[in-house]
Amino acid sequence: MPIVPTKIKLAAGNNTLSIVWSDGHLSVYPYRYLRDKCPCATCAQSGPSSPMEAGPFPILGQKPLRPERAELVGRYALQIYWNDGHSSGIYSFPYLRELCPCAECAGSQAGEEAAPRAS
Ligand SMILES: [Zn+2]
Ligand SMILES: [Zn+2]
Repeated sequence: MPIVPTKIKLAAGNNTLSIVWSDGHLSVYPYRYLRDKCPCATCAQSGPSSPMEAGPFPILGQKPLRPERAELVGRYALQIYWNDGHSSGIYSFPYLRELCPCAECAGSQAGEEAAPRAS
């Protein structure tokens, strides 16, 4: 059985998004971290440290980056709509789970989850 999110909380506090998984695991992602890992073509090309903070146009001041909302894409992914208008990043559940920054997951990266991805 695939591991899927059972609970997604956009504003979990401290600028984080939290996901409770069907196996009971809790993942807490800082917004900035999630955005850096955005899998869309644009972000993949420009890399995490490009000066795209404010987008193509300077916006009034600089709002702290945060997701406005997130939508499920079918049963396999989460699409995040950022407050700067960016929304093309579609985070598949296995990808999100891989990204889990907790110590437990960081320590068990190898093995198991390496199933080939059907796309
Ligand atoms: Zn992106
Ligand atoms: Zn974890």
